[in-house]
Amino acid sequence: MRKVKNIGVLTSGGDAPGMNAAIRAVVRTGYFYGYNVFGISRGYEGLINGEIKKLSPRDVSGILQDGGTILKTARCLKFMNPEHRKRAHEICRVFNIDVVIVIGGDGSYKGALDFSIEGMPVIGLPGTIDNDINCTEYTIGYDTALNTVMDSIDKLRDTAYSHERCTVIEVMGRDAGYIAVNDGIAGGADIILIPETKFDIDRDVIKPILECRNRGKKDYCIIVAEGVGNANELCSAITEKTGIISRATILGYVQRGGSPTAYDRIMASKMGAKAIEVINEGRLNRIICLNDNKLIDYDIKEALDMKKELDVELLELAKIISI
Ligand code: ADP
Repeated sequence: MRKVKNIGVLTSGGDAPGMNAAIRAVVRTGYFYGYNVFGISRGYEGLINGEIKKLSPRDVSGILQDGGTILKTARCLKFMNPEHRKRAHEICRVFNIDVVIVIGGDGSYKGALDFSIEGMPVIGLPGTIDNDINCTEYTIGYDTALNTVMDSIDKLRDTAYSHERCTVIEVMGRDAGYIAVNDGIAGGADIILIPETKFDIDRDVIKPILECRNRGKKDYCIIVAEGVGNANELCSAITEKTGIISRATILGYVQRGGSPTAYDRIMASKMGAKAIEVINEGRLNRIICLNDNKLIDYDIKEALDMKKELDVELLELAKIISI
């Protein structure tokens, strides 16, 4: 295997706050160790199209505090096709890129795994607000999203309290309830609905609301992960079955944006630097993870085969402390 001199970096899939901090750390740590770092725009799409530019430490000035990604990101169906990945491989050869650092989620890792099997070394950094990557307890952007959602819950609860209403807040999480559960606890929700557990409207929503009312509550807060169902329909059912006026708010893309929290900036910086250190140690096709508060790296294939389960005991805790 030839010695690594040139490193490509791209962001792929859903954007997440802190991706810029990771890019900055990759570029500057790369420079520190004497590598050339190339920014690849618009994820795998830009790789296939050769949208590649060398980045100097000055090119990543002033981005640490910015949400989104200066490299832009994209979903690229073409990359699932081996012919297009072959084209991407050829582009890497043209630019003499020896390894590609992919900052993205599970889907991006699947693409990276295929790319690595076909001979292009990769390193993965976990970037997604959903925290739904199995090999790591933390993903870049998750902490910022948690705080954004918590702020929204606080605001929506003010108005629910004043009008004595039920506020139903839909948060991101098609398959994973990490944001819903943790923000449910951070925001003091009465009921949290997540995709990992089946729910029955009468047992899990109406009954607890009526119990809350019997205990003297006059306003209610329900957090629903998007994978569970439609917040507006849930509101209508609550009003119909309890007579309590309910309002739905779908937080949507606001959860993706914003300046990263200190924690996301620090972790993204550490993970970006770790990606370069791993390359410098001659280890390729690795995924950088945070587990038990330690930065570690796993083989990409092993990482993709791992399973992670949400701690559903958190739901029990949420129920107890919402009384
Ligand atoms: P995320 O990385 O945030 O999970 P996606 O699931 O949309 O986002 O994946 C991002 C990109 O990764 C896709 O647009 C595609 O280019 C690539 N990708 C996803 N799944 C695969 C796959 N099974 N094989 C090859 N490439 C994939």
